[in-house]
Amino acid sequence: MKVIFHPRFYEIYTSDPAADPGRMEPVVKALEKDFEFVEPGPALERDLQRVHGRSHIQKVKGDPLVYEIGCLAAGGAILAAEMAFEGQAAFGLIRPPGHHAGPDSCWGFCYFNNIAVAVKKLMSEEKTKNALILDFDLHYGDGTAKTFSGSQSVSYFHPEGTQREEFLERVKQCLRTENPFDIVAISAGFDRHEEDWGGLLKTEDYFTIGKWAKEVSLKRCQGRRFAVLEGGYNPSVLGTNVSSLLQGLRE
Ligand SMILES: [Zn+2]
Repeated sequence: MKVIFHPRFYEIYTSDPAADPGRMEPVVKALEKDFEFVEPGPALERDLQRVHGRSHIQKVKGDPLVYEIGCLAAGGAILAAEMAFEGQAAFGLIRPPGHHAGPDSCWGFCYFNNIAVAVKKLMSEEKTKNALILDFDLHYGDGTAKTFSGSQSVSYFHPEGTQREEFLERVKQCLRTENPFDIVAISAGFDRHEEDWGGLLKTEDYFTIGKWAKEVSLKRCQGRRFAVLEGGYNPSVLGTNVSSLLQGLRE
């Protein structure tokens, strides 16, 4: 399993919790001993255009630094998806996050919808016909849902639950969908952790979710699976939480 990362994700491209200084360093530290890192190139404008309208892209371009890092994040998601398609599980350790970015607008620290750009790229190349997107971030990925609303090809799931066991049961139900999919894409937000904003999940739960996602991908779609970072704002636990997910998700 490979980790997609670019040193420019260390840059403080704006002032919000996703762009906080010191957020990426502990994750890199937690993963670099176990995983090989690969550097992505930036997404091209035509990649963004499969999800976003021209005026939205122009608006983001108004801040050249955000645009550059945003294109690298989307490029990281694309590379993770391409590796997954080739049979190598991958994790995009990227920022800014993307699931609140829709076709014509964005909020919640997001600019471009990384996972949607990646899935649409595979679909445009006819590598993937159907995708399952599991988003276990604390927050509903309205941008992803909007991008694929009415789509027969992409199923978007955002499990909810106020109790830990209940939440995990919902995750399991999502993965049991009868909707067709030939790749599993995960919007991995860690802000539901007990020491993060949501105050619910334990570190080992991310291992469990990763393992379930791996198992369902092996059963249903030749093991094709990738995840990208969304939320997660406590740097003192983010590294171990990401590592836990990846240990479950890997071979
Ligand atoms: Zn979130």
